Amino acid sequence: MPPKGAPRPVPAARNSLSTVKVTALAGGIGGARFLRGVKAALPEADVTVIGNTGDDIVLHRLNISPDLDTVMYTLGGGISAERGWGREDETFTVAAELKEYGVGPDWFGLGDRDLATHLVRTQMLAAGYPLSEVTAALCQRWRPGVRLLPMSDDRVETHVVITDEQGRRAIHFQEWWLRLRAGVPAEAIVSVGAADAKPAPGVVDAIAEADVVLLPPSNPVVSVGSILAVPGIRDAVRDTKAPVVGVSPIIGGSPVRGMADACLQAIGVETSAEAVGRHYGSRASAGEAKGLLDGWLVDTVDAGVTVPGARVVARPLLMTDLDATVAIVRAALELSGV
Ligand code: GDP
Ligand code: CA
Repeated sequence: MPPKGAPRPVPAARNSLSTVKVTALAGGIGGARFLRGVKAALPEADVTVIGNTGDDIVLHRLNISPDLDTVMYTLGGGISAERGWGREDETFTVAAELKEYGVGPDWFGLGDRDLATHLVRTQMLAAGYPLSEVTAALCQRWRPGVRLLPMSDDRVETHVVITDEQGRRAIHFQEWWLRLRAGVPAEAIVSVGAADAKPAPGVVDAIAEADVVLLPPSNPVVSVGSILAVPGIRDAVRDTKAPVVGVSPIIGGSPVRGMADACLQAIGVETSAEAVGRHYGSRASAGEAKGLLDGWLVDTVDAGVTVPGARVVARPLLMTDLDATVAIVRAALELSGV
């Protein structure tokens, strides 16, 4: 062991941080913003993104993968800067026409440019291509600069159990999130199809063979949690030789954006950086209790948080601009020790 504080030796296998293999498990907006920082911090790195497909929904017979598209558009330069999802310079003519027909739902934003992506995806899936190949084909246009893999080629959908005037029932996550704005308490959040799903080709290897695995500040329940619900992925993260570092999406007891608190409540986890870190758990814990993290990055307002068995470091975690995001990524890499 080198003395405390001594510079770490550079591993012999590579001569620069820039060539590291990074694997990240990402949801939509929070994940995509963080990944933009990963690319800027490590322009030469070999980055694999395992994207959440639990948000996927079929509308108007179209296969829509919102989180994959958010990552693809954000890293490929096509994202709406204002909304953080969907396309820049978007129009909503088709959505307005559907409304004139009284054909819903009206709570899901389907832009005209975005529709082309869904048409291509739907056509390729119908022709028999798996989602991973469809995603690769879509990325040939967008060139996100990362290898974007869906968590699974099998259909997995996050559903939310609620009780409303129609009684106790499960609705699609998108309906709960967008139509109800997560305002009706979630009694349970279920990954329908996850138990029978297999990780998409390359997913487990990307985790096993990474130099560092990152959990961006994505929603711990319906983004990272959905990915981990695919059998084999959680074990791959637990067992990889690479260090695993997570970044808290919760700052000072609140999500930075969105309603992650409503999701955490549904699984009985407090909305705090500490509770989310402990929910992920430490890889140092033994047996069944073995978790996912070697390091947990929290915001400076959450300094003092502990996750037994994991190193916790506090840094400013607001991704206000690219420079701030790059600093977060660098802190995560430093914490990982690569
Ligand atoms: P979604 O699929 O579009 O909801 O996006 P993700 O699941 O990838 O990310 C959502 C999470 O990102 C939310 O829980 C936010 O708290 C978190 N988030 C958004 N912006 C920031 C930020 O600037 N800093 C941190 N630490 N978290 C953020
Ligand atoms: Ca999402």
